[in-house]
Amino acid sequence: MTKGQMPKTIDFAGIKVDNVTLKEAVEQVEVFIAAGGPRLVVTPNPEIIVTAQKDTELREILNNADLRVPDGISMVVVSRILGRPLQERVSGIDLMVELIKKGRRIFLLGGAPGVAEEAADKLINNITGVCVAGTHDGYFSDDSKVIKQIKEDKPDILFVGLGAGRQERWLNRHLKELNVPVSMVIGGSLDVISERKKRAPKWVRALYIEWLYRLLTEPQRWKRQLALPKFLWLMFRPGR
Ligand code: UDP
Repeated sequence: MTKGQMPKTIDFAGIKVDNVTLKEAVEQVEVFIAAGGPRLVVTPNPEIIVTAQKDTELREILNNADLRVPDGISMVVVSRILGRPLQERVSGIDLMVELIKKGRRIFLLGGAPGVAEEAADKLINNITGVCVAGTHDGYFSDDSKVIKQIKEDKPDILFVGLGAGRQERWLNRHLKELNVPVSMVIGGSLDVISERKKRAPKWVRALYIEWLYRLLTEPQRWKRQLALPKFLWLMFRPGR
């Protein structure tokens, strides 16, 4: 299939995903920043797609987002089998890091107290030209205080890691008021960037067995891994 014939969006059990490469996603976000915003970037993966089957609000938010990158290798495999191939997996953390490399003003929101600051330090030490406008932890009760701080810090990109579901709802509720050009959900990426949590080694990622690594290093999350068979069932069940 030539690039011209590539479907622009692909439907995964009612959740629309944009068929972009990492490079195209970065370019798209740059266009959003230039245009002003506010825009929402989400990162659907099998787990979120399964959750969104019963959660209509989450489904609406995902489908109405401005950019929806496919954050799961199983989505790529499934899309190929079904004959509407995704170009590649675009992992949320990879997109986040590529955007940060562009030197835009960023705000990091989420994680336990201290995590966002530690992540900011790691970014500043490891990437030249990083511009951190502000940080805040993800365990707050007063939305208006956090919103005020973000507005004062005037970031180009707001990264929000409050856990799947909560982060999408929080941003959807406050997007207009925040009026940041681009806001993106990032799940637990701040834990990884701050190095409080280890990302799977490169060879594990290359073999596409990150899920197995997670299962072994965080066995308490085994229930969440059931999302994958549920996702496969949704995509291949008879009469879908
Ligand atoms: N988190 C947060 N506030 C909350 C709940 C979670 O900032 O009220 C953070 C948590 O510290 C972690 C990230 O959200 O950094 C992702 O959390 P989790 O792994 O539970 O959710 P996932 O996104 O993987 O579903």
